[in-house]
Amino acid sequence: MIAYFVMELAVEEEIPTYSGGLGVLAGDTLYSFADMDVPAVCVTLLYRKGYTLQKITPHGMQLDFDSPWDYKKKLKKLDLEIELYFGDRLQRITCWEYAIRSKSEVKVLFLDGGLEGNDPEIRKLNEKLYFDDGIYRLRQEILLGIGGYRVLKALGYNVHVYHINESHSALLVLELLKELGSREKVREKCVFTTHTPVPAGHDKFPIDMVLGELKNYGYELNWEEELENGHLNLSHLAMRYSGKVNAVSYKHLFVSSHIFPECSVGNPDGLCDIEYVTNGVYHKRWVHEEIKELFNEYMIGWDESPILLQRAYEIPSELLLKRHNKVKSELINFINKQTDASFADDVLTIGIARRVTPYKRNDLILRDIDRLIHIAESFGELQLVFAGKAHPKDTAGKEMIKNIFEKMDLIKQRTKALKITFLENYDINLAKLLVAGCDVWLNNPKRPYEACGTSGMKAAINGVINFSTWDGWWLEGGIEGVNGWGIGPKPTWQDLSESKDEEDLEDIYGKLAYIILPTYYTRKDEWVRLMKNSIATVGPFFNTYRMVSEYISKVYKIGLR
Ligand SMILES: *Cc1c(COP(=O)(O)O)cnc(C)c1O
Repeated sequence: MIAYFVMELAVEEEIPTYSGGLGVLAGDTLYSFADMDVPAVCVTLLYRKGYTLQKITPHGMQLDFDSPWDYKKKLKKLDLEIELYFGDRLQRITCWEYAIRSKSEVKVLFLDGGLEGNDPEIRKLNEKLYFDDGIYRLRQEILLGIGGYRVLKALGYNVHVYHINESHSALLVLELLKELGSREKVREKCVFTTHTPVPAGHDKFPIDMVLGELKNYGYELNWEEELENGHLNLSHLAMRYSGKVNAVSYKHLFVSSHIFPECSVGNPDGLCDIEYVTNGVYHKRWVHEEIKELFNEYMIGWDESPILLQRAYEIPSELLLKRHNKVKSELINFINKQTDASFADDVLTIGIARRVTPYKRNDLILRDIDRLIHIAESFGELQLVFAGKAHPKDTAGKEMIKNIFEKMDLIKQRTKALKITFLENYDINLAKLLVAGCDVWLNNPKRPYEACGTSGMKAAINGVINFSTWDGWWLEGGIEGVNGWGIGPKPTWQDLSESKDEEDLEDIYGKLAYIILPTYYTRKDEWVRLMKNSIATVGPFFNTYRMVSEYISKVYKIGLR
């Protein structure tokens, strides 16, 4: 049995306990476990008020609201209570169960310390995802890692592999160490997937805070050995106690071994054995219903065997275009109902949707609006649809949203050839429509900070063409001019230099004007070829069936020996 630990999870529309790619990937993984009959259980936290619900004022200010949901209806409360210390406070913890049923059943356990009678400070941990860092984050991680470990024990799960998916649950190694007695033994049971190449993305806590919260657990650890500048870095802890560590794309393997020198690539003497498994998407969830019908007709079996997506060439071109335009129409109707953007069906539409945070550079394409307006007026009309939430405390992210709104107003006053809109509250529902309904999917994060990226895979399997920075998965999947276009220079695997905004902008504007717009408006046959190439080259590999198979053969095998 695999125990899959994750802080956020996007398992369905009505369970808003996720912020972005990490949670969506977790959901896609669990669906694939169930389809592939992989014995697994997922451990995550209950957040009664979800993540942030985004509304935006007319001036582009993001307002953050709670996102309460009917967890009592969606989940089944288990008749179980365990006890957990937070400092000197002994608290009661329960859990709620959700089941994914396919070839086998995968249970999801939502841990809950929000019981009546518990300290209000502890009950807060189950209100919102990522609501604070510091001691609240540490306590959420105690709940997830230590609480999760104990709940699995109490429920009698026979766990062979503990999968620490991003470091939030790393404290579970302390429980294992207490039980098994040595680092070596713990390493036979733990694997760790790192998802974050941004150094600030790795949780660190002052050791006094950690020792204060854990004082009643009696963990015998040589803390000195684990510290950096008086802080416990949970990624390092996870790495040092995991028998396998993996990055989430080939490029990310090199980035990670730079951040964690103890995990050097090709360094068998290093403490830690690092691998990579490139992420994928659960094709059954991300192919739009309209497109699914077409696939069912021309690529029978594509859903059980996504390798068959390489037969996309058998779909008649006019049918693929027609079907795509139907989905696009659905998107445009939605946009015109939600906003006053008055988008048109026959205009090239580019989607830019993901978490809004500086390294993603969500507003990069609007840096030079004179040039963008000139391109739209001279080379062909253009529509841009933005979506994405900034974390409530990410002021720089919120500034970017504001900037998008300001540029939107300026552009509206100057031209009709370029239209821009922003859709509120990006979530999996909206993502499903956007990744299928746009013509081009623009993703221009700053290199080398995109660990993998998955939204471009979702777009590609719907026949939407990628236009993306050469980073993460796109370095493996992208073929210039064949299934999309790259942005900026293509780095070697070892090259960890950062993108330069100016250089990337040149490519964005240049390729738009001279390749993308002319192809769309004057060479429809070539455009459909790119659409089919996207499905056929991305679908067979960048799916979670292939990904899960690789986890089994490269990562989980440590516990299956
Ligand atoms: C797929 C997905 C993401 C991840 O998008 P990236 O562009 O790869 O960062 C984030 N949020 C939602 C809702 C998604 O569906």
